[in-house]
Amino acid sequence: MTKDEKIAWRHYSTHYKHEIAFDKKNPRYKLYLQKGWITEDPRILKLLDGGIEDFREKTAVRILKESGSEIVFNYCPKCNKLTRTPIAKQCQHCFHKWHEAEKIEDIWIISFYNNMVKAFTSLFN
Ligand SMILES: [Zn+2]
Repeated sequence: MTKDEKIAWRHYSTHYKHEIAFDKKNPRYKLYLQKGWITEDPRILKLLDGGIEDFREKTAVRILKESGSEIVFNYCPKCNKLTRTPIAKQCQHCFHKWHEAEKIEDIWIISFYNNMVKAFTSLFN
């Protein structure tokens, strides 16, 4: 996220967690403002004009447009839905796990390779 997007996100999060933060008469309002948890900057607030979903979508589209080739999407091998993180090895949607899949695949590849080596060795001996 850009610096402005981070400020907007923090502003939204603070609002979401502490609705009291938007009561300007509340002493905490000034504190949150001083700490940078909320903002009165109209340029930042404009980012949130369309609501949080709109902000998320616009931010995601911008990130994909600017650095989409650097982003790795990790899909579940069973249901093909997007996992929670790029390195997740279990699916939050269908609960499929593939922690051992790579190990099993590695064992199979090593076993296959060893058998091929044996086969070739026996051909030339
Ligand atoms: Zn799945």
